[in-house]
Amino acid sequence: MRGRMRRALLLGCIVLIAALGGHASWGRGEGATVFQVSTFDALRKGLYDGQITFGELKKHGDFGMGTLNGLDGEMVGLDGEFYQARGDGKVVTVPDSAQIPFAIITYFREDRKLSLPPFSSLEELQKALDELVPGTEKMYAFRIDGLFEKIKVRSVPRQQKPFPGLVIALKHQTVFDLQNVRGSLVGFRCPQYMDGVNVAGYHFHFITTDRQAGGHVLDCDAESLTGGVMGVDSLSLQFPKD
Ligand SMILES: [Zn+2]
Repeated sequence: MRGRMRRALLLGCIVLIAALGGHASWGRGEGATVFQVSTFDALRKGLYDGQITFGELKKHGDFGMGTLNGLDGEMVGLDGEFYQARGDGKVVTVPDSAQIPFAIITYFREDRKLSLPPFSSLEELQKALDELVPGTEKMYAFRIDGLFEKIKVRSVPRQQKPFPGLVIALKHQTVFDLQNVRGSLVGFRCPQYMDGVNVAGYHFHFITTDRQAGGHVLDCDAESLTGGVMGVDSLSLQFPKD
């Protein structure tokens, strides 16, 4: 009888510890969450139909990137303002009614400031960030600002149905070579295991400080940029509807 009571007491303690442990990890809750619409694999296969309005999307953050209905340009957002860098090179603000097929968005609050060494290519920038922010186990958000000696960005014109896959659509991309422009990189680094859900490795979009040009970053060159990094603790994924 006493043995059974002791076992019951022990079991009760284990249940209590488990409950407290669970509560403690929920209670921590300070970490950043990224909200993502659809998956990169769905986009790669040509799912360019809007999944959510921009008005709904912007409730999840003030910083991010994505594209618009029909793969209509590159979206970049920072400081709560979101822009569409269109295939013709024009930059316009994204209206609440816009339909968004793919996006990642978060509230960007830097954990740590970054001061970058000079670099002459996107690859060198990525290597510098790998050293400044080691760790391949989770996702990081980056914001990097300053004067870019050169930056090559691309955008894509709106696609017509039946939608081609991303590889075919990108054959019609427009590339812009910008020189001596001030602006900001908005980017994410995803771990390898997120390949398909998002883009494994780095993905940057750019917008000039005067908000006149921008797009998906293909290459860049800069002497001295500063920025910040935020570690992401969780991902909230809205599955594609189709
Ligand atoms: Zn992009």
